[in-house]
Amino acid sequence: MRICRFNGGRLGLVQGGKVIDVTPVLGLIPAQNYPLPQKDLLIEALPHLRGAIEAEAKKGASHAITSVKFDSPVANPGKIIGAPINYKAHVEESKADANIGHGRNITSIGDWGMFLKAGTSLIGCSDDIVLRFPERRNDHEVELGVVIGKQGNQIKAADAMEYIAGYCVTLDMTLRGPEFQCFRKSIDSYSVAGPWLVTADEVKDPNKLDLWLTVNGESRQQSNTSFLVYDIARLIEFASSFYTLMPGDIIMTGTPEGVGPVKPGDLIEACVESIGQFSIRVAPAYA
Ligand code: MN
Repeated sequence: MRICRFNGGRLGLVQGGKVIDVTPVLGLIPAQNYPLPQKDLLIEALPHLRGAIEAEAKKGASHAITSVKFDSPVANPGKIIGAPINYKAHVEESKADANIGHGRNITSIGDWGMFLKAGTSLIGCSDDIVLRFPERRNDHEVELGVVIGKQGNQIKAADAMEYIAGYCVTLDMTLRGPEFQCFRKSIDSYSVAGPWLVTADEVKDPNKLDLWLTVNGESRQQSNTSFLVYDIARLIEFASSFYTLMPGDIIMTGTPEGVGPVKPGDLIEACVESIGQFSIRVAPAYA
């Protein structure tokens, strides 16, 4: 099942090249009172909503994929978790290019651990990425996004795949510089998720997917998730050895080699095989 959020908070089922409006299903999410939990209520309820989504899709209005504005498929992730230096060839380019490493000793994800990006940095793929700090380098990083479906702590790798709600394409936009990742990568619009969520049952082997990114039509990144240093199960084990994972948490699994700068007005195209593809604009001016 391919689920999207579109046109400012509507719920859609993506099927046969169309987005079918199933927004009334949102009314079936169990109501909760303040204080709201640090998780995404739609993602948590999704397994129970599948029948209702299918029923609603029989009567919902349908739109061409090209005519809708995609919001982030996860509205309220409690955490956006990043995986640094998680493709070997990206480790090597980070060691070789002082403008990526900025004096840091590039070791391994096992040594560095993971990092968090602010929830306020998250946008959908129909929004613009708005760059800051014109004098500094702002890079693209295409990554497979894993969306957690149920709560878990200290999850074993052998059980990890059961905790996945689905997958999306993500961009971990990055201001290069000496600050910690949680600061540099948390600028508004520096986390992109889209175009939709593909539920885990539809993805046979997420550790064997091509992914690529172009800027203004020029190829920049091209790899396969089989080159991940920590694969998806190990990332879930590693993240949950520190954090309790909650429904709707997004793990950006790391970027392959080919990271590079973008400028205002650029057009980024990003794709993960079997998941989806989107084009996103870099806004024509710095914020
Ligand atoms: Mn990254």
